[in-house]
Amino acid sequence: MPHQLLLATRNKGKIEEFRRILEAIAPGEIELLGLDKFSDLHDVVEDGETFQENALKKAREMSLATGLPAIADDSGLCVDALNGEPGIFSARWAGSHGDDEANTAKVLNQLRDVPDEKRSAHFTCVAALYLPDGRSHCEEAHFDGWILRAPIGEHGFGYDPIFRPEGYEISSAQMSAEEKDAISHRGKSLRAIAPHVIGLLTSLG
Ligand code: IMP
Repeated sequence: MPHQLLLATRNKGKIEEFRRILEAIAPGEIELLGLDKFSDLHDVVEDGETFQENALKKAREMSLATGLPAIADDSGLCVDALNGEPGIFSARWAGSHGDDEANTAKVLNQLRDVPDEKRSAHFTCVAALYLPDGRSHCEEAHFDGWILRAPIGEHGFGYDPIFRPEGYEISSAQMSAEEKDAISHRGKSLRAIAPHVIGLLTSLG
């Protein structure tokens, strides 16, 4: 029987990506479920002060609510010239949650007078695993790059149209999903946590 694991997201793209990563390492061992498989789960209040606190809080609350081991991630954009902001506030930087256009416009405006060589930034992602017996494990990964002067590209989401990955001449919104997954903060943290997930889940017997 495969071990059931909850991925604390309703995003089908994230579920499919992590399912592919787990299958590549341990075929048939893990059955990955999204939040869409459960009704009446509460929304987790993301009031931590770090990506790790928020990721672990989401994983812990969803694990305790379902009785299943759970994985959650928390991510954001950290701009050096803004002392690491928007950071954990990335999704609601311009006020309302998830307004990507307003968020990117606000960052561009804040960097209006910042020269190209000082526009360095990185995305951060923490992936957190929580088991109902209280054990947990986190993996943090970064995706380095530079903030452009205007949005470009149709793929991705959030700040992708204004983010040029280090070593590339295009924005991350001009990359295919596969190309971005291979180098992104989220792809790296999920690939890093996958062996720990399999180790801990198979140790449960
Ligand atoms: P969360 O991890 O779903 O809470 O995402 C936080 C926010 O960070 C998103 O709403 C985006 O604004 C931003 N973000 C995180 N990862 C990415 C990415 O890969 N591309 C662009 N924006 C991102």
